[in-house]
Amino acid sequence: MIEVDAEKCSGCKKCVKVCPYGAVTMADKLAVIGDECNLCGACEQNCPEGAITIQRKKVEIDESKFKDVWVVAEIAENKLKNVTLELLGKGRELADELGQTLCAVLIGKDVKSYTKVLGEYGADKIYLAENDLLEFYNTDSYNMIISGMILQFNPNIVLFGATHVGRDLAPRIASNLELGLTADCTGLSIDEGRLLQTRPAFGGNVMADILSHTRPQMATVRPNVMKKLESPTDKVPEIVEVSVNVDPRGMRTKVLERTEISGVGAVKIDEADVIIAGGRGLGSKENLKLLQDLADELGGVLGASRVIVDEQWLPKSQQIGQSGITVSPKLYIGAGISGAIQHLVGMKSSDTIIVINKDPNAPIFEVAKIGVVGDLTQVIPALIEAIKAHKAAQ
Ligand SMILES: Cc1cc2nc3c(=O)[nH]c(=O)nc-3n(C[C@H](O)[C@H](O)[C@H](O)COP(=O)(O)OP(=O)(O)OC[C@H]3O[C@@H](n4cnc5c(N)ncnc54)[C@H](O)[C@@H]3O)c2cc1C
Repeated sequence: MIEVDAEKCSGCKKCVKVCPYGAVTMADKLAVIGDECNLCGACEQNCPEGAITIQRKKVEIDESKFKDVWVVAEIAENKLKNVTLELLGKGRELADELGQTLCAVLIGKDVKSYTKVLGEYGADKIYLAENDLLEFYNTDSYNMIISGMILQFNPNIVLFGATHVGRDLAPRIASNLELGLTADCTGLSIDEGRLLQTRPAFGGNVMADILSHTRPQMATVRPNVMKKLESPTDKVPEIVEVSVNVDPRGMRTKVLERTEISGVGAVKIDEADVIIAGGRGLGSKENLKLLQDLADELGGVLGASRVIVDEQWLPKSQQIGQSGITVSPKLYIGAGISGAIQHLVGMKSSDTIIVINKDPNAPIFEVAKIGVVGDLTQVIPALIEAIKAHKAAQ
């Protein structure tokens, strides 16, 4: 239920401007809420007088009213992020098991062309909201638009990538709509019709299974954990265009300038094919050069254990593991890393793992395809020479 307190309303019209669904009008300098209102909360949050209040009734959930699995799509550098396709792969499994529809939510400026790929990777239906002001991700507008869509269409499950955007957006929506949210899931399955959400807990030492008592059931999922469809289909998805009204005055932040990152961090490690990672065994920041030389030979990027990031030898963007980034490259080479569980959860699904460690009992050898027992300051230069010689011989 939404109410406007006539005593408090000053007739400032801010609610009219911020409503993404054009549901608020003015009559005699008083805000009037129309039938288009889906209780997204934009007017309540932006009213300077606190004149608008929404009360969402706490009622016993009728689970049968909530249908379909939604994946909130993310675009970066003019393409869909891999994690979106991975979520569609998992979403397809969940939707099939539930006998429900797999939908993608696509928001942005001129983004309709991405619907084709979303269909090819499993989406049956796409909720599409386009507006020139949605060119760049914006917490306020994306929150209100997706909150509104959720209230209008009642999805059963909503999945987000555990990316910078997903980690910002999903909790906002959960808070706005008073929903549960499980962050950083590493497993999703259906248990008696409900979404069983699995994630590491207690420092990664146990895996916790979590059920939500609110609907939709919402989760963020780390990149490189789920598998996208191996071969894209030729499915053409149904498109539901959701008309949205975006006013810059409803956005508290604005993108002033975009800068391309160069050097370390330019290639995101969760998208890299080859990662050369270093740990405390490097001994000094100077020895990072050894890793960089190897990375240059193999066309790879640098990764790190948390120790290296804590020492500020590499930025946090390169940290692999539970409190860093989950990676799944074709080749992971780890040098001077012991293999603590918090590191292993972030790299063990790499295709080929090669490790260099002077301690033959280091736990990282247990996940390695090739293990070299030795001092990295000797092994890496020898490896670089061998690669150079191999290249020269070709
Ligand atoms: C809540 C929580 C979250 C965490 N999140 C993360 C995370 O996201 N990522 C992460 O990495 N860690 C994380 N950690 C820290 C983790 O527990 C370990 O402390 C850390 O991974 C150890 O880093 P390391 O392997 O570089 O160092 P160490 O464990 O000290 O291992 C160094 C290794 O280098 C070897 N070595 C030494 N010298 C040489 C040499 N010259 N040549 C070859 N090998 C050599 C040693 O034999 C040893 O095995 C987390 C911890 C907690 C509690």
